[in-house]
Amino acid sequence: MSITPLMPVYPRCAFRPVRGEHCHLIGEDGRRYLDFAAGIAVNILGHSHPGLIGAIQKQAETLMHVSNLYGSPQGEKLAQRLVDLTFADTVFFTNSGAEAVECAIKTARAYHQHAGDTQRYELITFNNAFHGRTMATISASSQDKMHKGFMPLLEGFKYVDFDDLDGARAAIGPHTAGFLVEPVQGEGGIRPASDAFMKGLRDLADANDLMLVLDEVQTGVARTGTMYAYEQYGIEPDILATAKGIGGGFPLGACLATEKAARGMQIGSHGSTYGGNPLAMAAGEAVLGAVANDEFLGHVRTTSDRLRARLEQFIGNYPELFELVRGKGLMLGVKMRQEPRAFVAHLRDNHQLLTVAAGDNTLRLVPPLVIGDAEIEEFMDKLSAGAASYAPVAA
Ligand SMILES: *Cc1c(COP(=O)(O)O)cnc(C)c1O
Repeated sequence: MSITPLMPVYPRCAFRPVRGEHCHLIGEDGRRYLDFAAGIAVNILGHSHPGLIGAIQKQAETLMHVSNLYGSPQGEKLAQRLVDLTFADTVFFTNSGAEAVECAIKTARAYHQHAGDTQRYELITFNNAFHGRTMATISASSQDKMHKGFMPLLEGFKYVDFDDLDGARAAIGPHTAGFLVEPVQGEGGIRPASDAFMKGLRDLADANDLMLVLDEVQTGVARTGTMYAYEQYGIEPDILATAKGIGGGFPLGACLATEKAARGMQIGSHGSTYGGNPLAMAAGEAVLGAVANDEFLGHVRTTSDRLRARLEQFIGNYPELFELVRGKGLMLGVKMRQEPRAFVAHLRDNHQLLTVAAGDNTLRLVPPLVIGDAEIEEFMDKLSAGAASYAPVAA
């Protein structure tokens, strides 16, 4: 037998974390790493946050899981909080981002099909998007590497270039049900959509009775400096998928929708055994309790400004390595002159700094949102040392 007990679908590195302390991870060998990956934009309160631990412990002792066949005071409370904080009127809880996007896709299709229009099932999605790894969500992505070996894809997705409003307009046809888009492409390289593009999609959706579905799985929950990134574009979606940060490390996601958009989602339309169970709701409450306030969001914005200014100044020292800085809030990308994986490994192995590679040659920085000046200093020290000691592989 040569297959590993853990199905070998990830290129796992030698670092084996066993403990987390605020913005650091500690490996099996006792070494400390500065964590600017945060479980890929998940641990927004950092590691071992006392409020989050306490909430989960307390709920675990009280009631961990019950069926969605029963009334849910815990779910009602968190759903109401999300409704109060956002455009949404109603919420379906999931255990992951891909499930939240799945629910969003189903909700968009059901919006039309509930009204008897069975021909409108197609979502226009965007090149280099990432929406998850289920069959529907890989079908929603144009990336061939995610499709290989899993054919046939689910029908009903049409890909056009990201941030290309004319392309999106031209793609609308008799089968179009809506648009599915990340306001800032995450895996695709921390690429923010332009204001004109997002506003344009909203206008196209309004003019053609289409659903504007936002995938805010990575951008959501204070990551970009507002609760959701759409707020910065001056638009509201019809449907939105959120996950990653919302549980602070506990598996939790949600599909948010307006009453109108959710008209096809009725008794029996959808379900999840675990989705929204009391333990997950306790984690979500603790996270939103910590981040959904002006003080926290202001902290994310000022910290972002400081980190970004430092990065922009720094990359000028290494024009052969780095091209530009982009992103929103504490979802920042440094576009490199070459594929970033070797540099990510170098920072990790030689400087105990954790970052993540993303598409379009981008070094992705998605730290815990609770970083402060001390972490920025430590980060810049490690990054500077890392750049100075890096012998780039021949471009
Ligand atoms: C991570 C991510 C997903 C998938 O989330 P999972 O929890 O891994 O299923 C979907 N969309 C976006 C934009 C993401 O960043």
